[in-house]
Amino acid sequence: MADTVTGVDPVRSLILAAVDNRAVKRLVATAPVSRDVVRRFVAGESTEDAVSVTRELVDAGLAVSLDHLGEDTTQHEHAEANVRAYLELLDRLHAEDLASRAELSVKLSAVGQALDESLALANASVICAAAKERGTAVTLDMEDHTTTDSTLRILAQLRQSWPSTGAVLQSYLRRTLDDCRALAFDGSRIRLCKGAYAEPPEVAFGEAHEVDLNYVRCANVLLAGSGYPMFATHDPRLIDIVAERAHWYGRKPEGYEFQMLYGVRPDEQRRLARLGETVRVYVPYGTEWYGYLMRRLAERPANATFFLRALVSRR
Ligand SMILES: Cc1cc2nc3c(=O)[nH]c(=O)nc-3n(C[C@H](O)[C@H](O)[C@H](O)COP(=O)(O)OP(=O)(O)OC[C@H]3O[C@@H](n4cnc5c(N)ncnc54)[C@H](O)[C@@H]3O)c2cc1C
Repeated sequence: MADTVTGVDPVRSLILAAVDNRAVKRLVATAPVSRDVVRRFVAGESTEDAVSVTRELVDAGLAVSLDHLGEDTTQHEHAEANVRAYLELLDRLHAEDLASRAELSVKLSAVGQALDESLALANASVICAAAKERGTAVTLDMEDHTTTDSTLRILAQLRQSWPSTGAVLQSYLRRTLDDCRALAFDGSRIRLCKGAYAEPPEVAFGEAHEVDLNYVRCANVLLAGSGYPMFATHDPRLIDIVAERAHWYGRKPEGYEFQMLYGVRPDEQRRLARLGETVRVYVPYGTEWYGYLMRRLAERPANATFFLRALVSRR
């Protein structure tokens, strides 16, 4: 991963730097307190855990996007195992009659993007085909900026056979307004988020208010277009602005959606759903939860401080 964005909180930089530290990883992975924190943000390690959390959320009036954790795969067998995990999940969602309310989020790096773009396309195609057969769809997560072009190329290929395949654009990237313009066409499902990776200033805005301003610009482009925008943020100001702009553009609740992460602002997720908004919760699961958890802690230094104190005091 590249240099840290300028202007970013030092605690966040420290935690992101610790993601690759083996000693920190061992400490976090084996500490008893980790289990509670992990459970707050991750559905569990098994397919059954993912299905049972999906059931709970669907019963509460929410939609779901499921992410089988396992990014940055550098071995063919791992990529194949990730594909199999998604196929097993789709079978279970279908059997439980949950597929119409639960789509899949797929990181291309988990299915071989770093090994070979055509391998990632082939693996993602298997997942998209199975998702279609089971009555649901796939959204490709967006990773660091070195993968953006490759991910959008794979998206274009997948959409030829499975036009409901979605992708993610990150408002911290300077290129994203243009990408939004290019992808705001009929049937195009685009999730807009701020972006979660440490990026250099050549490609990304460094100040939080610039990222937010660009989020609003991008949201306007997506709402003015004819695609299906998915607004992924917990930011109360952005949620208000998006809701107001959606109304202004005459969008009905079935013409766009809000998305939030499992365990983050759960009351707000339910409040928006009660107001009639479509709200989708992003639910990660699987044994490879460490990197995901660290990114969530980095976003909220208050959580990280609480967690680190508990980690040290329980030992
Ligand atoms: C559904 C979903 C999918 C995502 N997919 C991707 C992806 O594919 N690629 C990618 O790079 N990133 C992805 N992200 C992560 C995203 O880029 C951000 O890193 C993350 O969402 C934090 O940004 P934010 O918009 O919530 O605002 P932040 O700037 O983190 O927070 C803004 C405000 O939101 C509120 N808030 C935030 N967190 C909390 C909390 N824990 N508790 C209470 N209030 C809180 C606070 O008021 C805070 O000031 C995704 C996020 C979501 C929600």
